[in-house]
Amino acid sequence: MSRQTPAIPPEIQALVPYQPGKPIEELERELGIKGAIKLASNENPLGPSPLALQAMRAALPGLHRYPDGAGYELRTALAEKHGVGFGQTCIGNGSDEIIEFLARAYVRPGQEALAAAPSFLMYSKLVQVAGGRLREVPLKDFRIDLPAMLAAVTPQTRLVFINNPDNPAGTAVSKSELAGFLDKVPQGVLVVLDEAYIDFATDPEVAWGTDFLDHDTPVLVMRTFSKSAGLAGLRIGYALGPQEVIAAFDRVRQPFNTSILAQVGGLAALKDVDFLERTRALVKEGLETFYRCFEELGLFYVPSQTNFVLVRVGPQAKEAADLLLRRGVIIRYMGSYDLPEFLRISVGLPEENQRFVRALQEIMTRELA
Ligand SMILES: *Cc1c(COP(=O)(O)O)cnc(C)c1O
Repeated sequence: MSRQTPAIPPEIQALVPYQPGKPIEELERELGIKGAIKLASNENPLGPSPLALQAMRAALPGLHRYPDGAGYELRTALAEKHGVGFGQTCIGNGSDEIIEFLARAYVRPGQEALAAAPSFLMYSKLVQVAGGRLREVPLKDFRIDLPAMLAAVTPQTRLVFINNPDNPAGTAVSKSELAGFLDKVPQGVLVVLDEAYIDFATDPEVAWGTDFLDHDTPVLVMRTFSKSAGLAGLRIGYALGPQEVIAAFDRVRQPFNTSILAQVGGLAALKDVDFLERTRALVKEGLETFYRCFEELGLFYVPSQTNFVLVRVGPQAKEAADLLLRRGVIIRYMGSYDLPEFLRISVGLPEENQRFVRALQEIMTRELA
């Protein structure tokens, strides 16, 4: 008889593997079709930033070397762009990895982090892997409820995650709301602003964490090149915050956590203003297409400050998602986010958005009428 593998601790056994949006190739294999489209993972439909691609191509001959573990060039550019010290910047293998640094460096068994519910699933997973607990504060009218978050802080609370703008709701916290919240956060808590979607925010009232880095309450701002820069497959994100927090990350991280390509790609993307403008314009137009469709069908939706939108299809939402899949349109059914009547749709290219709109109209007026 072969020997057994070690027992998996019950708290690890209890974790559910993350369910990513279905890859296009997988759906095409399953259905035996071609030309499926994916509007499920909030990716940039324009592709990667062209300046990033160019820089990465030029860096290929250097791949026999280890990357610069300190990420000197990218972090220097981030420090300059945001007017902070080099020691207040860090980079990660996606901003997911920075959430992992936070959990590893600050959360021990018995300690807690706070986040809204529903929210990005990585917060709860990575806090639990570290042996801690994520306490969840329900959204109020699809917005993060900062007063309720404040009331939920306990002596065990180490981190408060504020996803701004929020995934999956698409709503954002305002400057005055954030300022009022930060003024009241007790000692010993780090406020983490996950700004994966901030580049898409169009409302001038939306709080940008970089305006709050000097607040008495310590704030860590996390950003990523995955969404607006079109580099989700590259895995590069960054954070800005107190020097002692970044120093703690350096203790818990792997020495070469970001690749050479990720560092040069991120650096070039930072300067690709033209691509960012094109992306923003595309997203604005795409959201308007979606809103018109939902209004025509009489469906409730949440106006978005991101590159995706949450829409209530009703008790048949799961069925609608399956029918869309059968038409080769991958969107996200929100059952695993505790929103069983909702779908989340990412903005695609104009023709992809049109295809989704036509498919949804058909489904709602025929199969599910
Ligand atoms: C996409 C996303 C991220 C960023 O993920 P990466 O690891 O940088 O690709 C972070 N937070 C939220 C809420 C997201 O939706």
